[in-house]
Formats: sequence, structure tokens, C-alpha cells
Amino acid sequence: MNEFDFIRRYLVQQNQDADVLKSIGDDAAIIRASVDMDWHISKDLLLSGRHFFEDVHPADLAHKVLAVNLSDMAAMGAKPRWCLLGVALPELNQTWLDAFCGALFGVAKRFDVQIIGGDTTRGNGVFSVTILGETPKGKALHRNGAKEGDDIWVSGQVGDAAVGLRLLGVAKQLPEYADFAESLRLLPEEVVQQCLAAQLRPEPRVVLGQSLLNVAHAALDVSDGLIQDLQHILTASQVGAEIHLEQIPSNRVFKKVFSPAQWQQCVLAGGEDYELLFTAAKEKRMQIELLARENNIMLTRIGQVGGEGLRILDAEGRALEIKQGGFDHFA
Ligand code: ADP
Ligand code: MG
Repeated sequence: MNEFDFIRRYLVQQNQDADVLKSIGDDAAIIRASVDMDWHISKDLLLSGRHFFEDVHPADLAHKVLAVNLSDMAAMGAKPRWCLLGVALPELNQTWLDAFCGALFGVAKRFDVQIIGGDTTRGNGVFSVTILGETPKGKALHRNGAKEGDDIWVSGQVGDAAVGLRLLGVAKQLPEYADFAESLRLLPEEVVQQCLAAQLRPEPRVVLGQSLLNVAHAALDVSDGLIQDLQHILTASQVGAEIHLEQIPSNRVFKKVFSPAQWQQCVLAGGEDYELLFTAAKEKRMQIELLARENNIMLTRIGQVGGEGLRILDAEGRALEIKQGGFDHFA
């Protein structure tokens, strides 16, 4: 199979979107953008051996490649519309591509986004999606909108994806995860499966993100670890905050099987949760609790905006020392 067979067989789709005048097959896609909307454009790059293990299942890989981009749209309350897919593959293997493209178009359909173009080349497993989304003019959520007195909320639970990564790392006998081997053996099987799913197939909070427009003051998606990402909101908004350790939603079992340091590493600094972290006025509490029920998702208040810097308090009100903030590719 050559590049053109691949494009023709796997990528060319029936265009069902009236705003797409040209999709895959021409030199560039053409979209007719609405003048009432603001446009969001973002890109993520995933490298074999760095962002995923080389033997990852192609369906899981396709899911994650798209999900991390959808999550960036969710973080700003944007409705994802279109994306472009760049791939560098060592070979065009039919079985692999069947699984990859099947999952890719499945996720795209579920979130109502169209793949309208991309580029394909030979290379060592590089995947990059550029995504376009929209919000009504002036309504987008930013990192810099947090206000004194705001509640700080997080969706779902954090730490599962980090534990999932450690499960994979221990299974592969990677030395950097060896410390976790003993405690991970104590996790019940259903928790193991839940953590692997969180790591391999994160669920972007696309609907929730859009329903936070006009509700939240600031938002982002937790990709580098709860504390580090919260710091991004605080820095951008030039405010401080207080977080209550006991209120952070994470799997109950983690506290039993992990040491406090391991728990912190996974829950506070773990990364790849792709949950939404947002701040909102106290007056919005009822509305947010209603949103949680409507979206069938847990939304938890973990602290409040105010004061100097970030204080993380334990159950006795003692401030915690945080050494490892989160993930930094250049650290
Ligand atoms: P060009 O030579 O102009 O770059 P290509 O032959 O690379 O064009 O691509 C032909 C068409 O196929 C274009 O519309 C392009 O957007 C699309 N395409 C190529 N690779 C991909 C991909 N991996 N995913 C989606 N569309 C792709
Ligand atoms: Mg090209």
C-alpha cells in the first residue's frame, strides 16, 4: 500500500458538513466559518516511546491522539468541529491501519468532529492532530479569569491515568517505575482496569466544557498534574488559592495501597487526567451541582481562590510541602 492508497482507502470520507466546502482530497480543505463565532485552534504532538509505548494497540493510540486535542477544546468551552491529522509511520500495515482508522473515525463521530485533511509520511511513529473548534463570540473560557473568592472545582477523579502509566511501566519492567511494583499488586482488578482505561483511553470532557460557558470564570484541562495546572490558572489570573487535600477526588483504594509520597505523585502531580479544573463564583454552586447531575459526572469543590500563593492543606489544616509539581518535558 502506498500513501495514495492509504488516503483513498482509509481517509477519504463522505462529507456531511455543510460548512466544509472541500475536505480530504484537494491541496487544502476549505471551511466556511461563521462570523458569529470565535475560533479555537490547537495542536498536540505524540511521539512513539515518549507519549506512548511502541507496542500500544493502534485503536488506543488513535483514541488518545484525538482525545487529547478534544480535551483542549473542552478546556475552553469550545465545540470541536474539524481536525487535521499528521502521521509519520514506519510502514503502512493494513491490520494496524484498520484498527487505527476504525477507532479514529469512531471517536471523531462520537464527538461530532470531521477529519478534513492532514499529511502522511514515513517516519518513526509521530502523530499530530490540529483541531479547530468554536465558541460564541467573547464567551470562551480562559486560564486568566479566576477571581478572589471563587470556588475551585475539578471534574471526575484524578490520579487514575498516572497509576495506569505505572501499571504499564511495571509490566514492562521499566526501572523508573520499579518502586511502585509492590503497591500496584495490591490494587483490585477492577481498579487496575479503570486506571489502564484512564491512561489509554481518556474521556475528553467536551460536553461539560461547553456547559461551563457563562458559569466558570477560568478553566483548563488537567494534563500535566493537578497542582501544576492549577498553578497555571493562578499565575495567569494573578491570584492565590487554598486547596484541601482531603477533598481531592481520587480512588479511595490509592490511600490504602500507596505511601503518602506515591499518592501525591499520582494524584497531585500525575498528569494525563484530562479532567476539567475550573473556578466559579460561590453563587454558582447550585447550578454546577445541577450540571454534574445532567452530565452524569462528578464535580467536586477542592478549594477556593484567595490569599498569597498556593497552599495545600491536609485534614488537620497543616500546609503541605510540594516538591514535584508535575510533568515537564524539559525538566
Ligand atoms: P500534498 O501533496 O498537497 O501535501 P497529499 O498528497 O499529502 O497532498 O494529501 C492529499 C490529500 O490527503 C490532502 O487533502 C490531505 O489533506 C489529505 N491527507 C493526507 N494525509 C492525511 C492524513 N494523515 N489524514 C488526513 N488527511 C490526509
Ligand atoms: Mg502532503
